[in-house]
Order: sequence, then structure tokens, then C-alpha cells
Amino acid sequence: MASAPGTNTPARRPRPKRGEGQWALGYREPLNANEQSKKDDNPLNVRARIENIYAHGGFESIDGGDLRGRFRWWGLYTQRKEGIDGGRTATLEPEELDADRFMMRVRIDGGQLTLEQLRTVADISVEFGRDTADLTDRQNVQYHWIDVRDVPTIWNRLEAVGLSTQEACGDCPRVILGSPVAGISAAEIIDGTPAIDAIESTFIGDREFSNLPRKFKSAISGNPDHDVVPQINDVAFTGAVHPVHGPGFDVWVGGGLSTNPMLAQRLGAWVSLEDVPEVWKGIVSIFRDYGYRRLRTRARLKFLVADWGIEKFREVLETEYLHRTLDDLDAPAMPETPADHVGVFPQTDGRFYVGVAPTVGRISGTLLNQFADIVEAHGSDRVRTTPMQKLVVLDVEADRVESLVAALDQIGLHARPSQWRRNTMACTGIEYCKLAIVNTKDRARTLIDELEERVPELDTAITVNVNGCPNSCARIQTADIGLKGMLVLDENGETVEGFQVHLGGAMGLEAGFGRKLRQHKVTGDQLPGYVEQLSKTYLKERDPGESFAR
Ligand code: SF4
Repeated sequence: MASAPGTNTPARRPRPKRGEGQWALGYREPLNANEQSKKDDNPLNVRARIENIYAHGGFESIDGGDLRGRFRWWGLYTQRKEGIDGGRTATLEPEELDADRFMMRVRIDGGQLTLEQLRTVADISVEFGRDTADLTDRQNVQYHWIDVRDVPTIWNRLEAVGLSTQEACGDCPRVILGSPVAGISAAEIIDGTPAIDAIESTFIGDREFSNLPRKFKSAISGNPDHDVVPQINDVAFTGAVHPVHGPGFDVWVGGGLSTNPMLAQRLGAWVSLEDVPEVWKGIVSIFRDYGYRRLRTRARLKFLVADWGIEKFREVLETEYLHRTLDDLDAPAMPETPADHVGVFPQTDGRFYVGVAPTVGRISGTLLNQFADIVEAHGSDRVRTTPMQKLVVLDVEADRVESLVAALDQIGLHARPSQWRRNTMACTGIEYCKLAIVNTKDRARTLIDELEERVPELDTAITVNVNGCPNSCARIQTADIGLKGMLVLDENGETVEGFQVHLGGAMGLEAGFGRKLRQHKVTGDQLPGYVEQLSKTYLKERDPGESFAR
């Protein structure tokens, strides 16, 4: 072996880098269980087995690989058996946690619903889902307690009104977030709806993209106020004006939360509305071809973007996928915080839109039908779900706004909620989620009720995001007060539900992740007192204009 120049130390050959499962580099083996399952059978094929076999044979007839793997591509997740507490979450095998019913996610691309669609969603909840219909922070609706025997009927009803559960979960392009006020907002630079529709109709269910390394989250909003939280999506297009070409989109890639949170980075490129689908396709293709498949924990686009750097990512996109260069774009102005559209606002056509806050996204089919009746009685046919677990009614005439606001208030949908009710989100939690350690929805509801009593004078937003485990489905790291469910010891030394606190997260202009405060672990019962003290200290000591996070 040769020596290194000037030394007697043998020169080392560079160690061959272990592949991370990037298809484009030839690393197709060995496969982990998820990759093997996708290779064995395209997960979209499971629909035929559900329709032809499982819907007749029931839960017991379902193949294990389909049950915990491929079902997701049609929006179906196993859900937690009733009565298993958080202490047993990690101690039981997945099958011991399984109920014999399912969570079913309906994708609502752009959050856009007509009243006919809304009523269909509501009726399915009442008839097949024990009246459950959670609003998620990705504009979806989630049912629980779905029996596999009912799934084909549910699909027929949804598809008859243009809705679907296809690729609502799984390693594929999930629902595309869109501005809830697309096409009607005075602040909007360009309406992104045609691009959402084109991507949805062309690429969702396309087998070219049905086997990605992991989930792929997209957002398209021509509104510059970040109402689709672009900084935490795999790819996002946000409204921007090019000095020569005019209105179009700024492009972001590589955002995501969970256990290794990363903020998306700007490509520094401008894309026209017409070109959004092509650029989206190029970016998702990079993920498919170069994404890391060896380890599930590294299989999100954010790791590739972080390793390559944004310049190389753009270069590969342009040279290998688009075969042209994109126009450069300087960074557009950033909003201080993402808009949630709660309240009453004028539309560009002289009418109004009204955004309301259901408490922590927990609603029901019954409530959705009441909502639909009220909306119809006030002359509107269009509603929207939002990435903040809110609902928006469009096209309300000026003289009907206050009547609408009052009627919705009566059913718990508030257009003028307290800051606490407006800015608290919660994930699914222990009632249904197999990974959950704590109850989130009830804890968050109690927290809001208590804080409205204890700190009624709060005059600015303090966001509180309650999560049932480290997975961050309700964005632990981006809230002023992020709560991660865990088991803690109470004052008597008993193990009880509690939370690890993260403080100081933010989206928008001063985006950053909250800091985990190791010493700040609170029991569920201590939570209202803890947040009360924090917020009162902030109110007392803040400088003029100082936000909670910064
Ligand atoms: Fe389930 Fe954890 Fe996600 Fe909550 S954060 S929905 S508990 S996986």
C-alpha cells in the first residue's frame, strides 16, 4: 500500500459510501419491509382486494401486509382499540393495539367543498363513522370506526361528488394544500387552483409516483400570506411577482417536522401558473429517484435537500428533469405569521368570506350538516377547510354576514373566538391513534376553557399545539407553546399523562423551531396553570409590539 505524501502512514482509499437506497444511484437492495411491500405489489392494487375480498370477508379476512401497509394508499389506517392507555402504547405489538375498524382520510385538495360535497362527507360520518369527522391541519376530514365492509359504499358516495380517499395516506403525493380563499382574496397575487386541479387529475393515482420513499406533502397558494404554511411542506408554491413576467410563484423545497424538523428552503426561482405542474413533477421525481429509502427515518425529501444544498437541488431539477433553466426570483416579502382567515373579510367581488374556529378540529357529521344548513340559508354554496383546522364560508352578501356569524356561533363555530380558541390545535391523540401516549383533544378543550376564564385579557396570538407523541402531527415545534405527549411523574410519584414543553416556535418572517425545555415537563392536570403563568408573565413583561416567540 502506498504511503501518504510526506508521511509513513499508509494512504487510505476513500471508503465506499454506503448507499441510502437511492434508485438513481442503483441502490435498490437490500430493502426494508416497507420497500419490499411496495415492490411486491403496487399499493394502489389493494383497492380491488378491498372491493372483491375484504368487504365481503370482513376484518379477519385482511392480509397483514395489506392491513398495515397498502391500505394507506386508499386513506385507511388501522386505529387504536378502545380502552388501551398511553402507558401500553410502546409495550404492545401493533396488532394488539389494532381495533377491527379503521380511520379513513378524505382528501380535499385545496380545501375546496361545495355544499353537496360537504353534506356527503357529513352523511357518511353519521352513517358509517359513529358521527366522527375530525378536521385535520392538512385540510382533510378523517373518519373513525369505519368497517371495511362499508368501504366500497363510502367510496362510491364520495366519488359520485368528486371526492376521493386515493393516496390520502401512504408513501405518495398526499393532499395538496391550497389557499382557503383562492380566487376571492384581495391579497392574492394569483389563484393557484388550476395548478392544484391539474396535479390532482394528472398525477394522483399515477403509478409513476405511487411508490415514493415516504409521504410527500405539497402546498400551492397564490396568496403571499403563507396560509398553507409553506415552510413545513416538502414542496410549496407561494404567490410572487416577477419584475418582468408578472404574477406567478416562489418555490420552496425540503420542509418537514417530526423528529428532525427542517424548514423548507427557497429555490430562488419563479414559476408561472402554467408551469407549476411540470416543476412539481420534476421535484417529486427527484424525490422518487434520489430520495433515501434505506431507513424510514431518513426517507423524507428534507434530508436530501439538506445533504445536497439548495443550489445542487435546483441544478439537478433543471438539468435532469426540466431540461431548461428557471427564472431567478429575489426573496419576496414575508408575512409576520401565516394567515388563518378567521373573522369576516371582504372578497374582491364585494361579498364577504367568514372564517370560523371549531374547537381543536374535533367536529362531527351532525355538526357539518348543521353547518351546511346554515350556510345554505345564508345564500352560499362554497365552503373551505384550512390548514389551521378551521372552516371558511365564501360568497356571503353584506346584509347576511351578521346573521351567519350569530347562527354559526350557536353551534360552536366562532368567527370571533378568543385568542385561545383560535390559536390552539390538537392532533388525533389517544382516542384513535395507535402511536399516542396521551389524550390531546379533551386536554386541549379543557385548556381552552380554563384559559378563557383565567387569562381573558389576552390580546394577541399565543399558539398552543398539543401533540400526543413525538410525531408532531399538530406541529409541536412551530408553536409558541408546543406540547409533546409523554408519561410523567406527578407529585405523588405516580405515572400520569403529561407533556414535554417546547417554547418559542414560529412560522412566517421569523420562522424557527421552539426550544425543548428539558426541565419543563407538566402533567395534564398542571397544564392550564402552567400556560396561565407563562402567558401572564409575557403580558406583564413584554415590550411594545413584542411577540411571545421572539
Ligand atoms: Fe398520533 Fe402522535 Fe400524530 Fe398525534 S402526533 S396523531 S399521537 S402520531
